[in-house]
Amino acid sequence: MADKGFSLSQLNAPQREAVVTLKGPVLILAGAGTGKTRTITARIAHMMDQGIDPKTVLAVTFTNKAAVEMRERIDGMIPGGKAKDMTVCTFHSLCVRILRQSIERLGYKPKFAIYTQGEQTGLIRRLINKYAGKDENLDPNAAISMISAAKNKGQAVSDQNDSLIAEVYRAYEEEKRLLNAVDFDDLLVLAERVLRENPDVRDYWRSCYHYITVDEFQDTNKLQMQVVQHIVGKEANICVVGDDDQSIYGWRGAEISNILDFEQFFPNPKVILLEENYRSTTPILHTANSSIKFNTSRREKKLWSSNVSEEKIRLIAMPGDVEESEFIADEIFEIVQVEKRPFEDFAVIFRTNAQSRVIEEAMRERKIPYRVVGGQSFFDRREIKDYLAYLSVMLHPEDDINLLRIINTPARGISKTTIDLAIGDSRERKVTVWEILQDPEFVGQLGTRAQNSIAAFVELMQRYGNEADRPSANYGEIAERFLKEIDFDDFLERQCKTVEEADKRKEGIHSLTQDLYRHHGDPKKRERGLRGFLDDMALSSDRDDDEDISKQKGVCLITMHAAKGLEFPDVYLIGLEQGILPHKRSLVEDTVPEERRLFYVGVTRAMTRLTMSYCATRKKWNELITCEPSIFLTEVDKTYIEELSLDDIQGEPLDDEESEDAFANMMEMLEGIEGVELD
Ligand code: ATP
Ligand code: MG
Repeated sequence: MADKGFSLSQLNAPQREAVVTLKGPVLILAGAGTGKTRTITARIAHMMDQGIDPKTVLAVTFTNKAAVEMRERIDGMIPGGKAKDMTVCTFHSLCVRILRQSIERLGYKPKFAIYTQGEQTGLIRRLINKYAGKDENLDPNAAISMISAAKNKGQAVSDQNDSLIAEVYRAYEEEKRLLNAVDFDDLLVLAERVLRENPDVRDYWRSCYHYITVDEFQDTNKLQMQVVQHIVGKEANICVVGDDDQSIYGWRGAEISNILDFEQFFPNPKVILLEENYRSTTPILHTANSSIKFNTSRREKKLWSSNVSEEKIRLIAMPGDVEESEFIADEIFEIVQVEKRPFEDFAVIFRTNAQSRVIEEAMRERKIPYRVVGGQSFFDRREIKDYLAYLSVMLHPEDDINLLRIINTPARGISKTTIDLAIGDSRERKVTVWEILQDPEFVGQLGTRAQNSIAAFVELMQRYGNEADRPSANYGEIAERFLKEIDFDDFLERQCKTVEEADKRKEGIHSLTQDLYRHHGDPKKRERGLRGFLDDMALSSDRDDDEDISKQKGVCLITMHAAKGLEFPDVYLIGLEQGILPHKRSLVEDTVPEERRLFYVGVTRAMTRLTMSYCATRKKWNELITCEPSIFLTEVDKTYIEELSLDDIQGEPLDDEESEDAFANMMEMLEGIEGVELD
């Protein structure tokens, strides 16, 4: 990406127009790869050229990764490190900032905890068991989706048809309230509410930010739009960019109308359309366009590329998913060797997380470096969760979930019976477990050993809590000392069967401690303290956005959702089968157009070479199932598509006679070469 330095001459005319229009609402509506992100990045750099105070600039992105990338790009375009004074963040982290200042207005204590998805699942699972018994087959994740959808639509508990969901929803909200904790959806809901109900809070944020930019606006939901409306001041210097064809978060309540009816929210915007695609070759673009046309109710767009190419898109029929993966791994390996290209040029894109395992295996067998986006993340590792739980309890012992996670980890003589007793009491009296642990009446009924253990635990957490709470606290150092005191290394060693495993875990813990030191070392981050660090951790473990993938090396294995906004020279789009893409749920829920948009996003990630594939069979729960090619492959225009079977590419296996001939030919050839000795 040639964004070093900044000059308007690197942009085309409509892009330039967007860049220099700094006042009033601006809407950039354009197809994939037309430079939307590049344009808003340049626009912010231009603001700096115009002497605008970076502190008044807010850029909102959809993922943490996109935020990091945008800040880096702006930093490369302007001198003097001004980029670090801007606020470049996701909606969720913007809401955390707002709530850290004002959540008290809503009756919460300011030190609220943010639940990650794992913690949320734990709590919901417990509640389902409680209300329906262990046999209930309501999947906690399904319950979370339903509750989340309801919240994002602003529906109350009483609006729920299913009585179990309604009950779990109500209990879930109650528990969180009791624990002074919020989940991801609450961040939006509560920030919107605090802004709506408090004009002074609104005014404060309006006075902070005079220039607001939002990327990937097609994926914002109603609440996010409302938050934007609250913080955009009278001047309405708001610039949003997006592509209705790439709206792929309908399941999270995204409203395409936010972008299509933008003028209803911000009257008289300057509307800028970008039509030239700079990313992909003509065959790739033609194919993408021919598919998305099947969606009705969309804004028709012209999209062209001057990058004419004769290279066709390959569509390969694979016998099964293992063959598919092995073929791709072999091919990437070969191309990298022969063409001397970096592994980072390649991406394998799929619809569901579960598809990554087979392809990972093929990569590992061939020692090909790879990075997975959306798989088990660092933050899902047990020791990392324990560590973060400890830090969180230091600041906020009222948080039952984290407290219970570490109350007897490593074992310190607080038995399961004691813990159950404490939970029972706390629920009965509607107070937190932390309070129960300090209640003489509760503790008095226990044996001496249990009493001593609890007292020691409470003392430990209070002591470190007080230290960590101080404004000047060096929390890297505190955490390190804490881990020593509880002998965490020893605990890890005892937990692991092998030295390698223990080392891997210790390494993870060590790197998190280093992160703490780094966070403390950065004056801007230090302002937000350990609390800020934990906020960032909770936010960065958000669903599709587990790690900062741009810093990792290797072939990128990534879901279509997570691939939005990214580009790769060489793309493999795999598992294009009915039931996978379009996903089987979409067939029932009538959301095939959204799946078609996912296909469009997948295809348009490719810059020069695209390979699509589908399998005749795949393994599921150890059963071999037969698959049908995706309907999108039937719809798409085939002018630039070459249909192949795996045999076409790898060659039919030779029969005996043929292989004898081949052997003879080879011998003949070798004999002709000097210096080759044959016996
Ligand atoms: P998406 O819809 O996928 O988010 P986008 O519209 O945000 O795409 P960008 O990622 O900003 O597109 O740009 C796509 C590619 O085109 C990038 O590699 C970018 O550097 C390049 N590009 C954009 N505008 C120009 C231009 N005027 N001249 C040369 N290259 C450009
Ligand atoms: Mg973009």
